[in-house]
Amino acid sequence: MKPIVFALGMLLAAVTLPAAEKTLDVYFIDVEGGQATLLVTPEKQSLLIDTGWPGFGDRDADRIVKAAKKAGLKKIDYLLITHYHRDHVGGITQLLSKMSVGTFVDHGPNRETGAAADQLMESYTKAASSGQRSSVKPGDRVPLKGAEVVVLTSDGNAIDQPLSGGGQANPLCANAAKKADDPTENARSLGVLVTFGKFRFIDIGDLTWNKELELACPMNKVGPVDLYVTTHHGMDVSGPEALVHALRPRVAIMNNGSRKGGSPAAWKIVKSSPGLEDLWQLHFANAGGQEHNVSNVFLADLNDTGEGNYIKVSATKAGAMTVWNSRNKYTKTYPAK
Ligand SMILES: [Zn+2]
Ligand SMILES: [Zn+2]
Repeated sequence: MKPIVFALGMLLAAVTLPAAEKTLDVYFIDVEGGQATLLVTPEKQSLLIDTGWPGFGDRDADRIVKAAKKAGLKKIDYLLITHYHRDHVGGITQLLSKMSVGTFVDHGPNRETGAAADQLMESYTKAASSGQRSSVKPGDRVPLKGAEVVVLTSDGNAIDQPLSGGGQANPLCANAAKKADDPTENARSLGVLVTFGKFRFIDIGDLTWNKELELACPMNKVGPVDLYVTTHHGMDVSGPEALVHALRPRVAIMNNGSRKGGSPAAWKIVKSSPGLEDLWQLHFANAGGQEHNVSNVFLADLNDTGEGNYIKVSATKAGAMTVWNSRNKYTKTYPAK
């Protein structure tokens, strides 16, 4: 091919093919009722929120590494541990044996005691010594390149001022009953809001009821979001209406397992949230039966055969989302509003 013809061909290709829009990709990996959420920015920087469970022949670490490789990653830049429970930090040793991590982000000391808690903390401390470690407070930022990550809650504390985009009066607070205070690590969960242009995603780990209300009452300090990963796997000790309905997510992903989370009460609150276009689930929840599970197309894993599928959300800066189910390749686009 003569150079001039080649150059003309390149020019035509450049004119006729629209440049692929840059997206923030979020992989919700099914770890059977734990958490492992991987965010990848257009700059290919990565933030992994939690590592799933230990054991099961490295099941969860393998699922995370598989998704990370699909995303073209060779390492994880930031690993954020929401709290020191087995289903969130338990898989860290296995993960570190397969993929390195740059910076470990956490809420500070483990507030639970006892042999099991000590062992989890020891594994975490050892893993974190392979990189940098950063314990963060509400209002701090995780310096991920290409998206803004703001800490909402950490170690039992919440932001005291509304974020830009938040501050709305919340009439749902008037009837928002509290539950018994939760002394566990769940209430210490490190929660974040991730912003990519107009797109907003909230992940508050296993935060429990009263602490969630601190974010939403008497005013909504966060403001509306596009994407919400259900708090605490969709268990009914989390996810109060006054928070979920004030967040008004367009898309929610429930990170439940077959025998964990997905409780009908929590499911109904999410499902009835104003402005919700779809709820997707990482797993069919046995507790819900046919009545309180989404239809099959929106489910990543249908049973316990160990498939380990994931749901991928690709968000644009304009706020559009494309959601993809790795099990059945079902895709749905939610245009920017
Ligand atoms: Zn959990
Ligand atoms: Zn927990």
